Amino acid sequence: MPTLIYPFTQILTLDHLPLRGALKDTELQILGNKNEPAGVLIEQDRIVTVDLLKNLLPKKQKNWEVQILDKEYVLTPALVDCHTHICSAGVRALDYSMRIAGDTYENIAQAGGGIISTVRHTRLATQAELAQTTEKRALQQIKNGVLTCEVKSGYGLDLESELKMLRAIKDTQISLKNQIDLIPTCLSAHVKPPEFEQAKDYLDFILKEILPKVKEENLAKRVDIFVENNVKSAFKVEEAEIFLKKSQKMGFQITIHADQFSTGGSLLAIKIGAKSADHLENSTREEIKAFTNSNTVAVALPGASLGLGMKFTPARSLLDNDAILAIASDWNVGSAPMGDLLTQACILGVYEKLTNAETWAGMTFRGAYALDLEDRGVIAPSKKADMLAFAVSDFREILYYQGALKPEIIWKNGKVKFF
Ligand SMILES: [Zn+2]
Repeated sequence: MPTLIYPFTQILTLDHLPLRGALKDTELQILGNKNEPAGVLIEQDRIVTVDLLKNLLPKKQKNWEVQILDKEYVLTPALVDCHTHICSAGVRALDYSMRIAGDTYENIAQAGGGIISTVRHTRLATQAELAQTTEKRALQQIKNGVLTCEVKSGYGLDLESELKMLRAIKDTQISLKNQIDLIPTCLSAHVKPPEFEQAKDYLDFILKEILPKVKEENLAKRVDIFVENNVKSAFKVEEAEIFLKKSQKMGFQITIHADQFSTGGSLLAIKIGAKSADHLENSTREEIKAFTNSNTVAVALPGASLGLGMKFTPARSLLDNDAILAIASDWNVGSAPMGDLLTQACILGVYEKLTNAETWAGMTFRGAYALDLEDRGVIAPSKKADMLAFAVSDFREILYYQGALKPEIIWKNGKVKFF
């Protein structure tokens, strides 16, 4: 049954905006104002139409349901977080304490911290325990307005544990039903596990043993790898290229952890037509320019910069060079424990001088494009009814509060929930 939802002081549709490049706030389509509110008509999980109330109400049919809101709200598309590691076990507060006290990466690893400690905990956890933790974090995402969330494996690093992680992500999706869409990614190539001497041998193992199982059980359509010449346990550009081309041949979409500490990963992503290259904190002019004519999305991860105390992804420069820029949380227990996309995007925006339009585009339809999902991220006819209502009268107040203001009402697949 169609449902008319109103009144909204403003509806920030994000419709009619280009996929790539810089955006001005004057380009934003904003429907409604204090005197002439707007509304949205949805049916099941889809948006039917969005318009000023004075145009919608005369068309009202007998069978339409109505949801009438009792105060001022701005309606926006729901957020899309295209890069997270919310499936894992254990916390890494010791790492964080040592890092802020000035300890080095090596010292932290020697003290039993670092990524391998998460691998240890994740291997010990049961599938049900992993699903429980993932669900808790996914519920937090929903509260924060993220209704599509990518989730990576990559803390198992052996056949059984990687499959356990991906199955736990699937279990979480089943238990949360339609409250959020979880998009799984196989990141078995996160780092080389201690059981393997050579990185190449481990990558061959992933190709021969893990990916065929992932495909058989339909656990993920995407493959990720941590490409980094300067991190010993990460993978070099040349070995990654061979691995990724073989993964592509098996039918997987590709995304790369690229240019976090050294360059090489992003140029590889662009060369092989990856869906996205994520991190890019250390991309130089050459890499930034390479995004100009590429459909590979440049994904900024401000949560990692905040967690590690590192510089931000050069988002301004990427946009000025016509890149498709998405913003994601990188939520993980090691380098990005905060897990609050809206807050992080606000902080990135103020340091990198991003407009409202650019920050919103990065958290919505541009992030959705990175996940190959073009049915969401804007409020427009035929798109998914994934929307957020914030209790303000001007959309600019949302970023102005730098993440402290959360949505009060969400619609996921057309189903309403109040907070
Ligand atoms: Zn990551």
